[in-house]
Amino acid sequence: MKDYGFDTLQIHAGSKIDPATKATGMPIYLSNAFTFEDADQAARIFALEEGGYFYSRLSNPTVSALQERMAALDGGASAVAFASGTAAIMGLIMTVCQSGDEIVAAHNLYGGTIGSLSGTMTGMGFTSHFVDPRDLTKMEALINEKTRMIFIESVGNPNGDMLDFEAISKLAKKYNLLLVVDNTTPTPYLFKPIQYGADIVVYSTTKYLAGHGNVMGGIVVDSGTFNFKDNPRYPLFNTPDKAYHDIVYADLGEGALATKLIAKTLRDLGACMAPFNAYLTLLGLETLSLRMQKHVDNSRQLATFLQENEKVEWVNYSELPGSSNYELAKKYFPNGFGGLFSFGVKGGLMAGKAVINNVELFIHVTNFADSKSLLTHPASTTHAQMSKEERDVAGVYEEAVRISVGLEDVKDLKNDLQQAFDKI
Ligand SMILES: *Cc1c(COP(=O)(O)O)cnc(C)c1O
Repeated sequence: MKDYGFDTLQIHAGSKIDPATKATGMPIYLSNAFTFEDADQAARIFALEEGGYFYSRLSNPTVSALQERMAALDGGASAVAFASGTAAIMGLIMTVCQSGDEIVAAHNLYGGTIGSLSGTMTGMGFTSHFVDPRDLTKMEALINEKTRMIFIESVGNPNGDMLDFEAISKLAKKYNLLLVVDNTTPTPYLFKPIQYGADIVVYSTTKYLAGHGNVMGGIVVDSGTFNFKDNPRYPLFNTPDKAYHDIVYADLGEGALATKLIAKTLRDLGACMAPFNAYLTLLGLETLSLRMQKHVDNSRQLATFLQENEKVEWVNYSELPGSSNYELAKKYFPNGFGGLFSFGVKGGLMAGKAVINNVELFIHVTNFADSKSLLTHPASTTHAQMSKEERDVAGVYEEAVRISVGLEDVKDLKNDLQQAFDKI
C-alpha cells in the first residue's frame, strides 16, 4: 500500500473486500465480541502473542480499517482510534506518563486540551508547563529529567501560528524526548508531521478527517521510529507488565506504543471508537484531498476579498504576503495551510458581534472544519472567560471573527459577508 499516492490511499488503505459476502463497501461490524478458532488461539490472543479480534473495546474490524488508513496517509507504522480527539490525547498521555511526570506544551494548543492539561490532568499528578512554541530557548529551559513529551499543534488556533518544526524536532531528539504534534487543522493532506521529525501525531477526527460535522472521534498515529528501549524517561515501557506475562513494551520495537495504547489504555480506560463512527470517518476520508483543496481554494479567495474590503481592519491568513507566518507557511505548507483563519472588523466588539448576527449562510457555532461555512466571535464565546488583557496576549482581539471556510460556492460566501458588513 505504501507506494500508492495519497488519493489512492485515502480510498483503499485499510479496507478489504469482505471475504464472507464479497461486499465492496466497508461493513460496519456491530459486534461486541469475536469468537476464537480454539482454546489455544484464545490464549495466544490474550497473551498478545497473536493479533486478532475478541472484544470491541480493544479492537474491531471497522475501527481497524480506519486505523490502517490513517497510518498509511500519515506515513506512520500504526494508529489507534479513540472516542474523541480529547480521548486520544489524554489516552496517549496516560500511556506514556505516570503521576509525577511532566509535559512541555505549547501555550496555543486547542483550548480544550489546555483545559484538560491544566485542570483534570494536573489534579491526577501530571504537570504541564506551557510555553510559546516559537521561543525555543524558553522551551529548552523547561525540559528536565521528568519531562516525557513536547506537545505542539501544527497550526495554532485561532491565529494560524506556524512553527519551525525541524528546530523543535532537533530539540526533542537532543533530549531523547517524544515530540507529539496535534495535526487536526491541516490534516495529512496539507502537512505530514512525521516527515519533519514528529514521533507521534494526534487528531481530532471530528474535524476535517470525517469532514461533515456529524461524528466525533480521535486517533493517535505512531511513526514507529522512537526508540523506547532503555530510555530512562520511559520506565513504563521498560519494566515488565504483569498483566501480560511480564511483557516489556519497549521490546516490541515499532509496535511498542500501539500495543500499549490498546492493551493497557483502551482496556483500562475504555474510550474506544464506535464502529459506526469509524465507518463515517472512513467515508469522509475517501474525499479528504478533494475537500481540503476546495477549503484551501475558497479560503484563499475569501482572504483576498476580506483584505480588500473597506469594512475589514486586518486579515490573519498565513499565506498573505506581510503575514508574520508567511515564510514558515511557504516552507512547510506549499499546498496551502487550511480553511481556518480570523479577521478583524473595523469598529471593535460591537462590529464583530454585528457580523455574526447578520450573516445568513454562515452558521454561528464554535466548531470548525465542517463542509458548511462557520463563524464565531471568540472574544464573546470560546475565550469569554479570559480577561481582555489575557485575550490580547493570546491574540484574541475584541473585533476578531474566526472563520471556518466550507465547501460552498465562494461567491455566495462573499455576498453573505458583504451584506452583513453593510448592516454594521
Ligand atoms: C477539536 C480539537 C480537539 C479535541 O477534539 P474532540 O474530538 O472535540 O474531543 C483537539 N485538538 C484540536 C486541534 C481540535 O481542533
